[in-house]
Amino acid sequence: MKKRNAENGVMLVVSGPAGVGKGTVCDEVARVRRDIFLSVSATSRPPRKGEVEGAHYYFKSQARFEEMIQNGELLEYNRYVNGSYYGTPAAPVAARLASGGSVILEIDVAGGGQVKQRLPETVMVFVVPPSFRELEKRLRGRATESEEDIAARLKRSREEFELAATYDYLIINDAVEHAAAKLISIIDAEKCRRSRCLGSIREQILNNMEE
Ligand code: 5GP
Repeated sequence: MKKRNAENGVMLVVSGPAGVGKGTVCDEVARVRRDIFLSVSATSRPPRKGEVEGAHYYFKSQARFEEMIQNGELLEYNRYVNGSYYGTPAAPVAARLASGGSVILEIDVAGGGQVKQRLPETVMVFVVPPSFRELEKRLRGRATESEEDIAARLKRSREEFELAATYDYLIINDAVEHAAAKLISIIDAEKCRRSRCLGSIREQILNNMEE
């Protein structure tokens, strides 16, 4: 992927334990801010009830996913609990960044690390539940996974939480609107970071002086 210039938007990784509601928070951000693009991941896991191809995920066979890995079509990927792959298609992300938009990748900690390594300017945001008790309640309430799957996800959540220490920002998802507002604030603040905008602002100010 090409290196971004100062005028471009912000690349964000949003991670957090399964069931924390990070998907809902990101959807809310994209709903109120049309300039922010939510990347749609590819996965080899089967669709859950109500999930729509191209909206929630691009659903792929195991073989097709492995082909995407081989072809270098993914910005990052990971193989998860039950052997399913998850990954970020690189092309749509590159296109959005190149046109100046901001991009959110809602991915796990391992994938986030790969993105940060490839694109060091990536802003890392970790969403946490108000408590692990609350997280367990939400996972059970979702009723889409087996007991075994829920236990594996809770174990992984606790492990992932330890890695939150490597992230730039932490957001408690106590209420979707609060968490979404915080995420938007982070994006807007990051756009003002000197290293991102000095070039474009200098150019703008100098041009105005000449008028
Ligand atoms: P779920 O099966 O509940 O939709 O997602 C399971 C986990 O996969 C979540 O923690 C989510 O963050 C992660 N995930 C979703 N898409 C991607 C992706 O493109 N790359 C990586 N590395 N993880 C992903």
